[in-house]
Amino acid sequence: MPCSLFLSGLSGMLLGHEVKEVLKSHGTVPLFRLVRDLRAGDTPARRRRDIVLAFLSQLHATAQSPVLNRKMQFHLNGFKGSHDPLQLLYEGEQEPDFQSSLPEEVDVLIIGAGPAGQLLGTQLSRFPNITTRIIESKPGRLVQGQADGLQCRTIEIFEAFGFSERVLKEAYWVNETTFWSPSEDGKGLRRTGRIRDTEDGLSEFPHVILNQARLHDLWLDAMKGSATRLEPSYSRQMASMKIPETGPIEVEIERVDEAHKGQKEKVRAKYVVGCDGSRSGVRRAMGYEMKGDFANQAWGVLDALVTTDFPDLRLKTAIHSADAGSILIIPREGGYMARFYIEMDKLNPDERIASKNVTAESLIETAKRIFHPFTFDVKHIAYWSVYEVGQRLTDHFDDVVPKTEREQRNPRVFIAGDACHTHSAKAGQGMNVSMNDAYNLGWKLASVLHGTADPKLLHTYNDERQGIAKLLIDFDRKISKLFAAKPKGKDGKDDKDAIDPAVFQDYFERQGRFMAGVETKYHPGMLTSNDTSHQDLAKSFEIGTRFQSCQVLRLADAKPVQLGHVMDADGRWRIVIFGDKSDATSSSSPINKTCDFLSNTLIPRYTPAKADIDSVLDVRAVLQTSRKDVSISDLPGILLPHKGVFGVQDYEKVFTDEASYGYGFGEIYKNRGIDAEKGCVILVRPDQYVSAIVPLGEEGHGMMREFFDGFMKPQEGTNGTNGHV
Ligand SMILES: Cc1cc2nc3c(=O)[nH]c(=O)nc-3n(C[C@H](O)[C@H](O)[C@H](O)COP(=O)(O)OP(=O)(O)OC[C@H]3O[C@@H](n4cnc5c(N)ncnc54)[C@H](O)[C@@H]3O)c2cc1C
Repeated sequence: MPCSLFLSGLSGMLLGHEVKEVLKSHGTVPLFRLVRDLRAGDTPARRRRDIVLAFLSQLHATAQSPVLNRKMQFHLNGFKGSHDPLQLLYEGEQEPDFQSSLPEEVDVLIIGAGPAGQLLGTQLSRFPNITTRIIESKPGRLVQGQADGLQCRTIEIFEAFGFSERVLKEAYWVNETTFWSPSEDGKGLRRTGRIRDTEDGLSEFPHVILNQARLHDLWLDAMKGSATRLEPSYSRQMASMKIPETGPIEVEIERVDEAHKGQKEKVRAKYVVGCDGSRSGVRRAMGYEMKGDFANQAWGVLDALVTTDFPDLRLKTAIHSADAGSILIIPREGGYMARFYIEMDKLNPDERIASKNVTAESLIETAKRIFHPFTFDVKHIAYWSVYEVGQRLTDHFDDVVPKTEREQRNPRVFIAGDACHTHSAKAGQGMNVSMNDAYNLGWKLASVLHGTADPKLLHTYNDERQGIAKLLIDFDRKISKLFAAKPKGKDGKDDKDAIDPAVFQDYFERQGRFMAGVETKYHPGMLTSNDTSHQDLAKSFEIGTRFQSCQVLRLADAKPVQLGHVMDADGRWRIVIFGDKSDATSSSSPINKTCDFLSNTLIPRYTPAKADIDSVLDVRAVLQTSRKDVSISDLPGILLPHKGVFGVQDYEKVFTDEASYGYGFGEIYKNRGIDAEKGCVILVRPDQYVSAIVPLGEEGHGMMREFFDGFMKPQEGTNGTNGHV
């Protein structure tokens, strides 16, 4: 039976059925078996329905596959004989040397090459006309350890930087979490819960675990593959920083390697970003303090190869023992190693963990007591450390204080990541939130340095990220308390903080979206429209939240593509048009009129002379019409723009909402609640957050103009079309 015929029959049979219940009983059955069963003449009606539903569930699963659909566009300005087309060729004469000396003047100086500094460096390394340097006090790349949890949202960001596949291949995928508590007699342990880790449909990517050191390598590779070949300048420590009223920031840097010990370098920077961790010197130079709880709970971290008769070593597992404390098992990448977060004794308010003389052996002894009666034999230790933090936060993430000065001054010094917030490792938030800070800031700095946005845009970094950090601190305080609490026993002799294991599991489940990193919602402001009157046109693309990807079909070549994956971390805004029911090729259609407005008015207004027409505002369209019924060359020119030195056309701007060959059907209109009658336009920030939803037609044109005028700089006297209309 031809697949299309089979499919159309299926959709008819499906209406009105309770899909969930059937799928639960059916599981994933190979497709050939389903088709064979369905063709058997004696298949009863109910069984046929089950077969159909299971088949569709498989299609759905394929459509959500995270490893699908990498974008790949290259050779725009001619064939380059590079062996890897995704690595840009270096255009200069000699590859730059980042180690021997620093330039006296830079656009952006990043202090610290942890996850925040590396993401920011990678973002800025993509812009050859921005001079960026990262200084790092360590002598080279991180070799081992530190954080490990990567949220779904973080993998979406990696996708935008082009290396999600490598992470997915190498990392451990967190599919399930189990909970263990004391057994009924109090002498052993029993599994009290086993839940899926991430709610269905949160993201096309899973929650994974990968060693921070490996992640650093991937960032270093991504920077090296950029047009600037950026890399951190190692063995250099920021010694002091002066922030004059006007003019560049002056930073004194000390070299700390043997060969150059004591040598000083001075760098003047237009912008400085402190990604220098929890003891941030940049934060101190700005006169800010961390406020909040001092560390009074220390956790041992042990990456080890062990043998044990405990069955859940390959699942993320929280164990609360009766009297010996708690452990969190995080299986590591590679299939054998696991990480153990081991609860240590509570510290007194003025006590530091250093005074406790913790050793790897004492961690192992504690772990053995918690695992009892299961065995726990450590065969090899890859990394161990004691991690001691409280929940702490700075009031300001930039140098413009008080707020009354905002009209006169724009920020020039920023802090990101652990430099502005610290918290426990329980929910694997540390490096994720740090990278999200940097992702929020990177494109803003680039737009201001490129002259396409007003520097007042930079105020939004503090406005947006300080509030998110506050939520994180509150969440972490709660989960740390639950984690450290003793489990309630049946005998009723518990201390007052003891909790029922079910309460812990319930909180864990309810906070799933937060822990996946998809709960972030920016409040109305310069970049988030307060006009929600058209939210109904695209119900699931909530204004202020990240644009959640969905599969569509590329019109020009019938390739299934994740729409979110065309939103590369390249500093461009996306204007995503969803077509209405009318014929998009007709000059009187709303979509055609909106495209006219974009190409003749809005885009030329903000696009610098000679730049490609999509270099600042990148227009994409999704149509309801089948690709078979529309010719791409009959669509408005902005959807098939001429670009590059030869003025060749870009065929990858238009998509349709229809089934693919073999990779399922995303059903974006249905799944994201797009109004099929009216269509709409969604404005998406360079870091993929939804800024506004506007209608097709006149009203929407005015709204778009007003929105972008709020922070973008008109590029007077240009046509913004690179000569190719
Ligand atoms: C020892 C340790 C263990 C950790 N374990 C865990 C864990 O198990 N789980 C978890 O979730 N999180 C853990 N964390 C926290 C997690 O690593 C951080 O949340 C995350 O790395 C924050 O990223 P960041 O880029 O903001 O800062 P960091 O990763 O701290 O990076 C800051 C960088 O700045 C450099 N630097 C500092 N000062 C200067 C200076 N003056 N000049 C130049 N360079 C400077 C540092 O060398 C460092 O490379 C751990 C952190 C540490 C330090």
